[in-house]
Amino acid sequence: MKIGVLAIQGDFAEHIVMLKRLGAETAEVRLPDQLSGLDGLIIPGGESTTIGKLAEDFGLLEPLRKFGKTHAMWGTCAGAIFLSKDARRNQPLLGIMDITVVRNAFGRQVDSFEADLDLPELGAGGPYHAIFIRAPIIESVQGSTKIIASLADGRIIAARQGKMLATSFHPELTRDARFHQYFLSFIK
Ligand code: GLN
Repeated sequence: MKIGVLAIQGDFAEHIVMLKRLGAETAEVRLPDQLSGLDGLIIPGGESTTIGKLAEDFGLLEPLRKFGKTHAMWGTCAGAIFLSKDARRNQPLLGIMDITVVRNAFGRQVDSFEADLDLPELGAGGPYHAIFIRAPIIESVQGSTKIIASLADGRIIAARQGKMLATSFHPELTRDARFHQYFLSFIK
């Protein structure tokens, strides 16, 4: 199995480490050609406006949209924003996942936090420790999109639509590989 990680900005290196730990082949993706032969793609956290602008400059927007129609794709934090149909402001988005997000929904950098989540989708192994850094909230999901995780107050922080996954938080910054394993299970 070969998984690409969009490597134009953000914490792509951490995703690659996690994927290798799970025995997947990996590739850094910066150009449209580098999508060929991949079974899935992860879009990392970082700054969604920068990722969007660079993807536009590198001619990646259409190739990524096309790839997402037939392949597994996962966006963490900024990556989830980039996947969304609506980020409530004007910035380049892939617009392929039926979610509406609100950026920086928890305040500034100092308001980053961690939370233990109840995540039945991940199976056994206890609560999932999630790290939020200037995280977005998934304000609503549409169409066939399913809510995977919410905070205790009901705010949505993870959603899945077919082989597409969006998380407000950063599984690549933990030592817990269950979320990456979950993503890989979309492919097999
Ligand atoms: N606040 C960033 C954005 O709006 C996302 C932060 C992150 O990816 N950790 O794109």
